[in-house]
Amino acid sequence: MTTKFPLLKAKRLVLKIGSSLLVNEKTGQVKNTWLNALADDILTAYERGQQVIIVTSGAVAVGRKVLNLSTDKKLLLPQKQAAAAVGQIRLAHYYQEVLAERGLNVAQILLTLDDSENRKRYLNARNTLNTLLDLGVIPVINENDTVATSEIKVGDNDRLAARVAQMASADALVIFSDIKGLYTANPRKDPAAKLIPVVEKLTPEIEAMADGAGSSVGTGGMATKLMAARLCMEAGCDMAIALGSELHPLTRMLKTEECTWFLADKTPISARKAWIGGAIKPRGTLVLDQGAVKALDQGKSLLPAGIKAVKGSFERGDAVTLEDENGCFLGKGLTAYNAHDAKAIAGKHSNEIESILGYHGQDEIIHRDDLFTEKRG
Ligand code: GLU
Repeated sequence: MTTKFPLLKAKRLVLKIGSSLLVNEKTGQVKNTWLNALADDILTAYERGQQVIIVTSGAVAVGRKVLNLSTDKKLLLPQKQAAAAVGQIRLAHYYQEVLAERGLNVAQILLTLDDSENRKRYLNARNTLNTLLDLGVIPVINENDTVATSEIKVGDNDRLAARVAQMASADALVIFSDIKGLYTANPRKDPAAKLIPVVEKLTPEIEAMADGAGSSVGTGGMATKLMAARLCMEAGCDMAIALGSELHPLTRMLKTEECTWFLADKTPISARKAWIGGAIKPRGTLVLDQGAVKALDQGKSLLPAGIKAVKGSFERGDAVTLEDENGCFLGKGLTAYNAHDAKAIAGKHSNEIESILGYHGQDEIIHRDDLFTEKRG
């Protein structure tokens, strides 16, 4: 199998950019030539028909220099948050400029751990991402460091990128780093270390090969990259670690095929459906009429018109059980409306939603991507 394959076949691609690639450690300046070359690569991917999401680090590295905070000492949390606030606005500006020069629109999204763990916020963030991507926009994402204290922090952008990939049902994530991939031993210490091109399973042997090697500017080492790989593989997303320090890193990766791919054994959609069917506890039940049962069998979304009854108390984004009128279990899904609103629109046409609720969330009560059914999985 060629290692180009997961990259080219990905419809939705997340690129993670580490601080050390983007920011000159000494001056705190964004490396303009490098960023422009990356923007060329993003445009090429976009023109290939790929939807691209950027997860970028570098806010703290840029901000601390602007604020004259020493690069030798570890920053206190409030200093780090201040640096992130100052740096993020500049960082976003750089991305916006270089991509606008190539005719691409950019959106900034700042996430906290809560946005991927709280189901309502998760659904909101996912919907926003989907909408932006459908509009051809390149989302540029970072952790919301300014408000995220340690207990509500993802902590490093490797894992943040994996969570974004999962949230967006991305097909591939490439973590650009200052290393070519995962080696059999630490290549900085052991000249006999060999690059591993493909990992299909995260075995204890593979985990032992990551010994926390990282650079001084960013946060993540190989260990966090493997954690990210685990998250991705569970979400049905292939993940690569590749060298990012040269110009045009994506083109380079395609040309040299020098990287490590962690391959998922399922698709993002099947992984998502399995997750909905398995782990999440349902908070209520929707009873479906025959028409809706049929729509479900055909793999369609669930509309309010087909809902006969709503039981339980649940919030938007919670899982609910689906039953037919005889109480037979049909599956589970993530609801786009809370119990109160679902009751109000049950049996009604989607074009009546706005007049009933005063807002029009979405036509479907459960989108087909958010459904797990007994038959279809
Ligand atoms: N969010 C941090 C920043 O933008 C970086 C975290 C990381 O690199 O893992 O500065």
